[in-house]
Amino acid sequence: MAITGKDTELAKSYLEKGQLVAIPTETVYGLAGNALDQQAVLSIFQVKNRPSFDPLIVHIDSFEKLSLVVAEVPEQARLLAEAFWPGPLTLLLPKQPVIPDLVTSGLDTVAVRVPNHPLTLELLQSLDFPLAAPSANPFGYISPTQAQHVEAQLGDKIPYILNGGEAGVGIESTIVGFPEGKPLVYRLGGLAVEEIEKVIGPVQYLPHSTSNPQAPGMLKSHYAPRKPFRLQEKVDQAAPVADGHTGYLLFDKYLDGVPEKYQRVLSREGDLLQAAHHLFAYLRELDTLNVQEIRAEMVPDTGLGRAINDRLRRAAAH
Ligand code: AMP
Ligand code: MG
Repeated sequence: MAITGKDTELAKSYLEKGQLVAIPTETVYGLAGNALDQQAVLSIFQVKNRPSFDPLIVHIDSFEKLSLVVAEVPEQARLLAEAFWPGPLTLLLPKQPVIPDLVTSGLDTVAVRVPNHPLTLELLQSLDFPLAAPSANPFGYISPTQAQHVEAQLGDKIPYILNGGEAGVGIESTIVGFPEGKPLVYRLGGLAVEEIEKVIGPVQYLPHSTSNPQAPGMLKSHYAPRKPFRLQEKVDQAAPVADGHTGYLLFDKYLDGVPEKYQRVLSREGDLLQAAHHLFAYLRELDTLNVQEIRAEMVPDTGLGRAINDRLRRAAAH
């Protein structure tokens, strides 16, 4: 069973031995290993049961270390890193040869970011290698935003979980690449596209697909609860069934006529930041509740709402 604690020295000692440690970040918990060590990286894929065509994100603690990982930093990437690191932004850039092909699933670009969490930054500073880390959940399931989520699912497979409390942002990073020199959003996430556009002007978004895994993690079905999950534009106040078989994931209002224990409201204030923060924890709660199916509604499709809706759609895409 994994030990859970706040000891970065202990975390460091496991990582230096090539073992894996779950790390807190502001987006979701990561399953981390030495990014320069093939064996460690291989075990990340094994522990997660992750297909090898789905590449990992490399974590560093400062912009200065970027040149160890990537061969080239376009001007727009530098501007974004200056504006948003540490933070929920991942950049896709041409990789240095030291990064094993396994990390990038054979692609010649590597995904890299500086996470904004004091414990993990401290850990990264103390290491002389970067950390490769995907989300610390079994492949395809809901991402973990608390140490206990990791414990529940991967606790018997790793030695240590660094406990940094609840992930503040609550959804994965926004991924931006520069194919042909133009910025392209590969995955919507914890940094709103509007914020990115304030710094570098208009950016395109590449919608995910199942047929073309050239930019993996863009798999259509992902982040999914185990129970049947139905997504609607709005859960109609007139239609809910208080049959005790249905759990509800709602944006800002409880439904009348359904006991509150069967409902999770993402943000009573209608605040999208708060909604993102609650999303995965509430989905998990509904998935473990004594109900047979989950019904969810979309949130306003702006700012972080776009990333939340993206996760909801993929959770529903079975
Ligand atoms: P996760 O940490 O579970 O959010 O997964 C990392 C995600 O980063 C992957 O699923 C991909 O979507 C993305 N990613 C990482 N490296 C690359 C890359 N070289 N090209 C495109 N997408 C990438
Ligand atoms: Mg993931």
